[in-house]
Amino acid sequence: MTKLLRSWVESANSATTQFPLNNLPYGVFSHDGGKPTCGVAIGDQVLNVAAMETDGVLSFEGTLSTGSWNAFMALGKTAWSDLRATLTKLLSEGADQGIAKYLVPASDVTMHMPFTVTEYTDFYAGKHHAFNVGTMFRGPENALPPNWLHIPIGYNGRASSVVLSGTPVVRPNGQLKGPDDTAPRFGPSQRFDIELEMGAIVGQPSNGPISVSEAFDNIFGFVLLNDWSARDIQAWEYQPLGPFQAKATATTISPWIVTAAALEPFRTSTPEREKPLLPYLQEPAPMLYDIALEVGLAPEGKGETIITRTNYSEMYYSAAQQLAHHTSCGCPMRVGDLLGSGTISGPTKERRGSLLELSWGGKEPFTLDTGETRSFIADGDTLTLRGQAKGDGYLVGFGDCVGQILPARALPA
Ligand code: CA
Repeated sequence: MTKLLRSWVESANSATTQFPLNNLPYGVFSHDGGKPTCGVAIGDQVLNVAAMETDGVLSFEGTLSTGSWNAFMALGKTAWSDLRATLTKLLSEGADQGIAKYLVPASDVTMHMPFTVTEYTDFYAGKHHAFNVGTMFRGPENALPPNWLHIPIGYNGRASSVVLSGTPVVRPNGQLKGPDDTAPRFGPSQRFDIELEMGAIVGQPSNGPISVSEAFDNIFGFVLLNDWSARDIQAWEYQPLGPFQAKATATTISPWIVTAAALEPFRTSTPEREKPLLPYLQEPAPMLYDIALEVGLAPEGKGETIITRTNYSEMYYSAAQQLAHHTSCGCPMRVGDLLGSGTISGPTKERRGSLLELSWGGKEPFTLDTGETRSFIADGDTLTLRGQAKGDGYLVGFGDCVGQILPARALPA
């Protein structure tokens, strides 16, 4: 296991910081009313790499001055490793501290979307989640659909619905099933939920089928992703084409892109296969990551309860397998394509990645530390996703992925 890389930014050497020199995640920030700017987190500071490029300290074809990481991602793998190597050198313990003038305290900045989401696809690739949901609706014998062990199932989502951590989420209104399938009504979702996921960011375009290895190389980095889901809207609308309005209210992502390079020491294999995958989906090497995940729920004005703890390594399909499958029909992929992993649940009750599973379809409400119970999200609740890979004496963290639920809008007249 790799050790902490020490930095002259002292706060980056703490065993509990999410942003040691080993991480160097990419975000977009503003400061003192300035415009959104590319930055890199180091300890409790943000390094203004856009200003460094303007001053000639860095040179990446002006991409760092665009206020988004898409143009830099488009430069490709050599640029990705060059920037990481350069920043690692400049920030290492013992290096000249001349770039200290480009540091801004993280507590003084406002974060913005780190990249423009060009397309958004969401998968259903967590086996425990698929088994739990399938069991609730079809019984344990038929929980997994026959295709599930062969295909990373997904649907095309809405890039327009992806929002940055901290953006409030308004409870959706929608068409809800009536008592007997004949008299639906329109109103606020009563079963509004989270889905704990990782988002993989495609950093290189493709136009035609690519292999799992090529897919792995094309993934620039990862964010935490909360696929807000209205279970009651979904239950009525999803047959036969899958989710639509149930998933289009909002999808929240964490503010920092943690690069695949930073996660390299944490690679792990997908689980043992129950049925062999077709050759085009087989992983030539471990392409999943060991990332500890948790979700906190805080009722309005009250303390938070951790409602689940799980790990990204529970996924049945890696992001590389999902991306390879996505391209298998010839579907073009763009820089800034976002792939949601699917809900990440573990094998036991306290490791479930959605309230639907934690409350078993609402039949078994769970109790918060405040004494209140929940089956689904209440107005005013704040949900926070956290993730970190654990190295030897250091963490690679993602920054919180937060959203508070606001009451539904008044119904249209
Ligand atoms: Ca999902």
